[in-house]
Amino acid sequence: KAAKLQLNQAPDEILGLAKAFNEMLFRLSGSWEQQRQFVDNVSHELRTPLTVVVGYLQSLLRRSNNLSAYQQQALETATAEAERTIRMLQDLLDLARADSGNLHFRLNPIMLNTLVAEVAAMSQKVSNRQINVLTTDEDVVICADQDRLQQVLINLVDNAIKYSAPEQSVDLILEQTEQLAMIHVRDRGIGIPLNHQNRIFERFYRVDESMTRSRDGTGLGLAIVKSLIEGMEGRITLRSKPGEGSIFTITLPLWKPPL
Ligand code: ADP
Repeated sequence: KAAKLQLNQAPDEILGLAKAFNEMLFRLSGSWEQQRQFVDNVSHELRTPLTVVVGYLQSLLRRSNNLSAYQQQALETATAEAERTIRMLQDLLDLARADSGNLHFRLNPIMLNTLVAEVAAMSQKVSNRQINVLTTDEDVVICADQDRLQQVLINLVDNAIKYSAPEQSVDLILEQTEQLAMIHVRDRGIGIPLNHQNRIFERFYRVDESMTRSRDGTGLGLAIVKSLIEGMEGRITLRSKPGEGSIFTITLPLWKPPL
């Protein structure tokens, strides 16, 4: 994969350097793979016992009908935190796979008008939030992995809901140009200060712990969104103003039917 230095016809010093360089590359690529494998194993190993913990907590909550307010609260918090940790492990697993190119995409032509409408309907039902869909009359067709793209959109809509007030609606807007499809997810929420806008796609990065801490999340969502979208040859960009809201835009190449 890496740019191996050519060893023929080089003077001795360079030859020595090149050998050292190639050796270093070899070790580095090995340690990357080891690190990925480690994350993979740890995620799996931790997920199993945590799933058992969540199962017992949920069954306690279901079966106990004379809990004190404190007990109820404690059990609910413990359940929510354990569930969040499981999600975090799944996210880490996805990222480790994306890093090593082991995240496989099943690419098919997808009609975005339908997908966007489905995601909006689903999110509206779960969250009880008004989600508006604005699409063109034309069919917007791209080539992507349907499940992964749906995961991306749900993630962005979840964020839009999480970082805005209950009475504020969220918009899903679909557009196309000659070559590209664009999906915008717009909220009218707290917005993101300019100096954080590049960084929120980093792993574990959250804008202001005091502001976002109460909102449950892992800080991994956008890192995954970005790596999934880029894995499907797309881009994600952001426009936002604190106090006014944010627009996340996904751009993907249009699917062209074979001639
Ligand atoms: P989290 O699990 O914290 O939501 P994400 O990776 O999805 O993690 O987002 C990273 C951070 O970016 C969030 O903690 C929040 O500070 C900020 N953020 C993401 N989406 C929005 C949004 N729609 N409005 C305001 N801030 C946002």
